[in-house]
Amino acid sequence: MLCLTRPGTIEGTLLPQLETRKMVASTLGEQAALALANLRLRETLRSQSVRDPLTGLFNRRYMEETLEREIRRAERSGRPLTVMMLDLDHFKQFNDTFGHSAGDALLRELGTMLRANVRAGDIACRFGGEEFVLILPEAALDCARTRAEEFREAAKHLHVSHLGESLGLVTVSLGVAAFPEHGKSGEALLETADAALYRAKSEGRDRVVVAASPR
Ligand code: GH3
Ligand code: MG
Ligand code: MG
Repeated sequence: MLCLTRPGTIEGTLLPQLETRKMVASTLGEQAALALANLRLRETLRSQSVRDPLTGLFNRRYMEETLEREIRRAERSGRPLTVMMLDLDHFKQFNDTFGHSAGDALLRELGTMLRANVRAGDIACRFGGEEFVLILPEAALDCARTRAEEFREAAKHLHVSHLGESLGLVTVSLGVAAFPEHGKSGEALLETADAALYRAKSEGRDRVVVAASPR
């Protein structure tokens, strides 16, 4: 609803004709509509530039920027910060068995689960393919380990159906690393988390591995 008022008629001036008033109202309405459409477009573009379209999670670029910012914040405040890297187990086999679009449905479902299970302030991102990164500001290593176990458990309970067919269950492996003991930059932290993830895979998958403490 658009409501237009004009200041009290100055003595001696005449109220414009109804037609003129209608024209002014319609021009102003069009301008306002244009401004609103622009705002909406800007918000859509912003969201598209930071989100992964398949899962709705943040994309890698946004995560990398945020990680650097969160590290600086943790440095200043002396508060903990952990990152975890999560990878679907044997996902290639899942795709080969059920098809690529079933694989996509599973990725979407996993994205929804992650979004539902992170706290406000945590960053859940699709790092690429079937790999995900979670940044948990303020979470100490013990807490992050517990959360990682919760994600691992929750992944097992994902029931994904595609084209009416119920798909097989999946497991995930996770690697966890903490700032600053496992890396002082975002890149170093992610590398350490990835190495821990690699160990989780080689030790049999469906598990959480926390990076070894530096000697
Ligand atoms: P591992 O347990 O060692 O992680 O085995 P894996 O099969 O999951 O790992 P690998 O890296 O060999 O394969 C990852 C597969 O993920 C390959 C590719 O088919 C699939 N993948 C990556 N991105 C997507 C995607 O966007 N959609 C679908 N459906 N599959 C994807
Ligand atoms: Mg995998
Ligand atoms: Mg992978």
